Amino acid sequence: MPEFQTSPGMRDILPPESARWRRFVEVFAATVERAGYAQVISPLLEDLGVFQRLGEATDVVTKEMYDFHDKGGRHVALRPELTASVCRAFVEHRPLTPWKVWYTGSMFRYEKPQRGRYRQFDQVGIEVLGANDPYLDVEVIALGWEFYRALGLQQVNLLVNSLGEPADRARYVDALKAHFEAHIDALSPESRQTLQKNPLRVLDSKREQDAPLVSAAPRLVDFYSDEAGTHFEKVQEGLRAAGIPFTVSSTLVRGLDYYRYTTFEYQGGTLDSAQNALGGGGRYDGLVEALGGPATAGVGFALGLDRTLLACDDERVFAPPSNDVDVFVVDTAGGLEALHLTGELRAAGFRVDRAYENRSMKSQMKVADRSGAAVAVIVGSDEIAAGVVTVRPMRGHDVPAHGESVPERTQQRVARPDLITHLRNIVQ
Ligand code: AMP
Repeated sequence: MPEFQTSPGMRDILPPESARWRRFVEVFAATVERAGYAQVISPLLEDLGVFQRLGEATDVVTKEMYDFHDKGGRHVALRPELTASVCRAFVEHRPLTPWKVWYTGSMFRYEKPQRGRYRQFDQVGIEVLGANDPYLDVEVIALGWEFYRALGLQQVNLLVNSLGEPADRARYVDALKAHFEAHIDALSPESRQTLQKNPLRVLDSKREQDAPLVSAAPRLVDFYSDEAGTHFEKVQEGLRAAGIPFTVSSTLVRGLDYYRYTTFEYQGGTLDSAQNALGGGGRYDGLVEALGGPATAGVGFALGLDRTLLACDDERVFAPPSNDVDVFVVDTAGGLEALHLTGELRAAGFRVDRAYENRSMKSQMKVADRSGAAVAVIVGSDEIAAGVVTVRPMRGHDVPAHGESVPERTQQRVARPDLITHLRNIVQ
């Protein structure tokens, strides 16, 4: 056992998986940039107060924060999510609205690590500040949907709900509280605790004991103001028009308690129900104000990389991209020629790796084989003297088994000045 290992809930993402992560972000960026979203890059660390504005009723804030005092005595925290940082940046810089941004990066939550749940994990997301239009909610929801399609995922279920306006929500929360309190003995001990902090979250309970009380609870839809009701109708109408299948889930309240109006969640059809939320979001009019800015509408979502990639594995889509090089330079001369040649080929646009340490030809060819290169270019003293290199195909019917000598006819000596043209013809 080595002396140092990653902390619990934190991981190294190694090749080839790391290339898949990068590709994931590239596909996401391409999807949302087509819709006018631009990337925002904000610090990993913020004043603790930025996240406390998310609400005292969220576990993310009360239990899971990585907070500490820095050397200057500031109480700071590693970000547990990015919506609050984006709103803080909006208040600080006052960009023109609607401000449409996307982001990617690591979040930190001190949770109990398990499959699909880590203490450092990555998300991608979008936020739009300064526009309250139900069809914008539709755009946001549709972009997440399109992104999953672009990855190749088929089994994604979209749940939508509306939490109404703050006043509707407050009246509803009172009614909910009264309902659960009237049957407090039937509620699980965990939900009794949740009830004290945030009655809405009791609806999220997945415990069997709570199921009858949750299904008999008052329904939020009966508390909507006209405006909230119309907003939600339009969101549903827009989703139908966009051809995006969805289910209305009246118990979908999601973790952060600043949501109002629309909330939504994408669930992975292949994942275990405790960890099946691939991502989600909603409308959070009011958060910018809570951070000291003007009253500003906001809507967005965050999607987790880990669970989405687990879903991709389950559906056998979005495999790690190939890391193979095009050309591998084998060097038996040991001088500067391999260095020159490698540099020239890279400058010409080929992906090129090479051998080091002047190993035997056989061991260099093994590395060449492992590199996935289509051809090996061999630089030996004979070749240098004759002004040529040897080009040896590595793939298809020309690939020899390890240790087998390569028939002379499959390899070619190519004049040094002709090499790039020659390689362009044989390497795609
Ligand atoms: P949230 O910010 O809580 O709405 O989460 C959005 C998405 O981020 C979830 O649906 C997950 O895919 C992902 N996520 C949240 N917490 C974790 C975690 N601890 N580990 C891995 N992914 C997470």
